[in-house]
Amino acid sequence: MKISEIFFSLQGEGIEIGLPTVFVRLFACDLRCSWCDTMYAVEGRDFKDMRLDDIVGEILSYGCKRVCITGGEPLIQAKEAAALAEILTREGYSIVLETSGHKMPPPAFWGDNTVISMDCKCPGSGMDGRMDFGLFLMLRPGDQLKFVIGGDADYEYAKKVISENEIQANIIFQPVGGEGLGMLTERVLADRLEKVRVLPQLHKILWGNKRGV
Ligand code: SF4
Repeated sequence: MKISEIFFSLQGEGIEIGLPTVFVRLFACDLRCSWCDTMYAVEGRDFKDMRLDDIVGEILSYGCKRVCITGGEPLIQAKEAAALAEILTREGYSIVLETSGHKMPPPAFWGDNTVISMDCKCPGSGMDGRMDFGLFLMLRPGDQLKFVIGGDADYEYAKKVISENEIQANIIFQPVGGEGLGMLTERVLADRLEKVRVLPQLHKILWGNKRGV
């Protein structure tokens, strides 16, 4: 399995924000978001080929029963990611799967112990045309749909998507790179978007734009 990094930190995004979590970042992605902050996990050769047993061993070594499987796009290695999720589920772990809204998560990620955290890419990313809205509708009330918002056009797009689709999942608006959190908050309040949570990226507030946190 191609692994970019494994580390222990606080969950920086979404409804589990602030919770201690082991992160397993899988290498490779088939999207190229304009604002991607993990390009080291998208392109190049900066990864380790690891056996499943060794990955599980490293996760266990942190002594924390919450894991975030992220990327890159983890579902590029869907079969391997699902095998990892099955083992972690058997071991009693809570899982967050961070994925973009263009790949169907395998059955291993639809258990009660897993939050599917799906991105709806807005126009500013350049990847909005790749999204599969049918996947957004499958998300459960405990899952989350996240919009990373880079300006007015992205905000209006996100607003339209949530007004035109019956999204059951939690809805997160997050400013690109932490810029414009105040503006986003004001707009959500002015528009009375009652179902939207406006959230920062906590790890960037705590540690800046660093790798492995
Ligand atoms: S989907 Fe994620 S990892 Fe892939 S290019 Fe976009 S931000 Fe980067």
